[in-house]
Amino acid sequence: MSIVLFGPPGAGKGTQAKKMIVAGHMTHISTGDLFRAAMKNETPLGLEAKSYVDSGNLVPDSVTIGLVKEVIAANKEGHFIFDGFPRTSTQAEALEKLISDMNANPIKHALFLEVPTDVLARRLTGRRLCRDCGAVYHVDSKPPSVPGQCDLCQGEIYQRKDDSEEVISTRLDAYSKNTEPLKEYYQKKGLFVEIDGQGDPEDVFDRFKTYL
Ligand code: ADP
Ligand code: ADP
Ligand code: ZN
Repeated sequence: MSIVLFGPPGAGKGTQAKKMIVAGHMTHISTGDLFRAAMKNETPLGLEAKSYVDSGNLVPDSVTIGLVKEVIAANKEGHFIFDGFPRTSTQAEALEKLISDMNANPIKHALFLEVPTDVLARRLTGRRLCRDCGAVYHVDSKPPSVPGQCDLCQGEIYQRKDDSEEVISTRLDAYSKNTEPLKEYYQKKGLFVEIDGQGDPEDVFDRFKTYL
């Protein structure tokens, strides 16, 4: 089966998806990670996505859907965790069509991570990433053992440009306008499940496991 993991920016989607791929032998598709990698490598996709990502706006649906299509096509047998995709109803409909056209594993659950806005702001402003492997840290709740250095690969720790307060507010608006309506979309399909995203990441992961 495949799973959609959605929720506001900073809800902990990436953190939980990484635990799930290990536990469930699944393939992680994070459109945000894919855009950041393309931007780092200055590929045509990265150059196209950059102005949207840096300003906190959504990358156009046609670009994002094209990217996901390529990733699924490269691994049709995969059991996917879609993290941060779909973010619009157009993307949600396109994803269903892609999966059925390519005979890929269907979406059995759309898991929504619920976290209140004030908590999201603290998670986002304190988030740090490894420039080399993408590992996620937090200045308060998950600092690296050696300041500025990734525990996993010794890479350099940095702050995402779009995790600044100004861009965060644009991202939260994009979320309310475009992504929150997906709750109803997946409720109608009978796939929607809300998971409480507060508390220790391991406790949140236990809630996922209990449900699944
Ligand atoms: P977060 O983890 O904070 O929710 P992501 O890493 O998923 O953020 O996404 C970062 C940025 O990449 C978004 O603000 C947006 O510009 C772009 N992006 C990621 N996924 C999508 C998508 N499905 N549709 C459009 N834009 C996307
Ligand atoms: P998303 O992919 O939804 O944007 P992330 O998984 O990147 O969210 O998490 C955002 C920030 O919050 C990161 O710095 C991460 O370390 C931290 N974080 C994630 N889950 C929790 C949690 N349950 N409690 C406290 N901090 C968390
Ligand atoms: Zn690293």
